[in-house]
Amino acid sequence: MADPKGFLTHDRSLPELRPVQERKKDYKELYQEFPPEKTIAQASRCMDCGVPFCHNGCPLGNIIPEFNDAVYEEDWRTAYDILSSTNNFPEFTGRICPAPCESACVLGINQPPVAIEHIEKSIAEVAYERGYVRPNPPTSRTGKQVAVVGSGPAGLAAADQLNRAGHTVTVFERDDAIGGLLRYGIPDFKLEKSVIDRRLAVMEAAGVRFQTNANVGENIPVGRLLADYAAVVLCGGSTIPRDLPIPGRDSKGVHFAMEFLKQNNKRVAGKDVSSELPLLATGKNVIVIGGGDTGADCVGTSNRQGAASVTQIEIMSKPPTERAENNWPNWPMILRTSTSHEEGCEREWALMTKEIIKDEHGAIKAIRTVRVLWDKDPETGRFNMVPQEGTEKDWPCELLLLAAGFLHPQKQGLLEQLGIGLDGRGNVLANNYQTTVPKIFAAGDMRRGQSLVVWAISEGREAAKSVDAFLEEGESVLEARDQGKLVVNA
Ligand SMILES: Cc1cc2nc3c(=O)[nH]c(=O)nc-3n(C[C@H](O)[C@H](O)[C@H](O)COP(=O)(O)OP(=O)(O)OC[C@H]3O[C@@H](n4cnc5c(N)ncnc54)[C@H](O)[C@@H]3O)c2cc1C
Ligand code: SF4
Repeated sequence: MADPKGFLTHDRSLPELRPVQERKKDYKELYQEFPPEKTIAQASRCMDCGVPFCHNGCPLGNIIPEFNDAVYEEDWRTAYDILSSTNNFPEFTGRICPAPCESACVLGINQPPVAIEHIEKSIAEVAYERGYVRPNPPTSRTGKQVAVVGSGPAGLAAADQLNRAGHTVTVFERDDAIGGLLRYGIPDFKLEKSVIDRRLAVMEAAGVRFQTNANVGENIPVGRLLADYAAVVLCGGSTIPRDLPIPGRDSKGVHFAMEFLKQNNKRVAGKDVSSELPLLATGKNVIVIGGGDTGADCVGTSNRQGAASVTQIEIMSKPPTERAENNWPNWPMILRTSTSHEEGCEREWALMTKEIIKDEHGAIKAIRTVRVLWDKDPETGRFNMVPQEGTEKDWPCELLLLAAGFLHPQKQGLLEQLGIGLDGRGNVLANNYQTTVPKIFAAGDMRRGQSLVVWAISEGREAAKSVDAFLEEGESVLEARDQGKLVVNA
């Protein structure tokens, strides 16, 4: 156990954010330096409970009390070994995970929980600084080739694991850079792209091959993959956004969030976007429809581009600020205010957008909303949306960003050509990660629907285990979740 009195001696504390006016001028990470001794004090708050619910809260089954103890003992090498035994990319999750582990922390029952996510990031950063993160190629190769389609966190985790198991892995990515939504969805102020590049260099040195501008089903025939590879892992993400089919949807200035975010991430990376229609919030009244992570990222990006105003609209009611009683250790449905919201944003709940109003040039000039009530049906328990008469309102708007979630993966191309079976929601149907087509596996958002980076890593790892077992006559050298320390050469 770290320090038996740690949680009595130290309050939860986290690195300070950079001042809003400063951080809005750039896309750099938001947090200031935090001295290691303060992180050690945070680790000492872990109570090493008999039943660590945080393990279960984390989709990767991260062995949290053990790495907290190692940090407390200032044994950062051991802390990294423990952390990396269950998590291939703690430098990603340590920055952008919503930390369901912290909602399950036992200390959280009557005190602020242990700062697990921050400790995770600190361990990863110390490990890089001190050279503990090194390419770890397998001692021997199986001679089997595996193709991974899609280079988001699921594809990267699957590739990393399969390479460790000795297979020769090629990752195919249709974009011009590796990383999936880590690269072209999540803004740099949440995850600077040098963090991805640093990891990719380690993976490449360990033997993972990457092919960009490789759109499987378009410029890479699916037949070639089936012929050349012993197994294929589909990690193409959930990329079809939910639309808003209302009058005026065809107005100029109405875009899906991902069009806006992707272009901006390219711009921040110094890429030439001059051939694309410029999507800029500068000087505009921006409205973001959708209250989740994607919407918040649009808010932060719009403010950095110098929007005149930013408003985020959500159709659901405003969530409570306090966790419901008896909710622990589950994920609480509470109001979350992100760093992007703190930078300037009006937030509105229970508003339904009825119409987009255009000017004489066909460009959006306002949206018309109506307030709704969510009425619980006493018989079914379902909530019904009831528009409130006389509450219509027009909101001036020159840029409308639709961030209302993603429906399912793209079917056209890859999935159609492979003839893959889909589940009721249109995601890839895969039992134990094996799809309905022999030797083709699936993981991440493409299989489970839109989710989180931590779940994508978890799915990539689990799919890799299934693939390894398939290739090696039922026996995998890769360990499954909760089996503790990994693996070949780790
Ligand atoms: C704007 C935004 C912000 C988010 N913020 C967070 C956050 O802060 N924290 C968090 O935990 N989660 C966040 N998420 C969710 C998280 O990013 C995803 O759940 C996660 O990236 C899914 O990983 P994946 O590997 O399954 O798919 P993706 O990351 O979507 O990667 C799929 C990749 O496959 C490629 N691809 C698809 N089809 C083909 C093909 N035929 N050939 C070749 N390549 C192909 C795509 O180009 C893409 O690069 C966010 C999502 C969005 C959209
Ligand atoms: S990956 Fe996320 S859930 Fe798991 S320990 Fe880290 S912050 Fe917590």
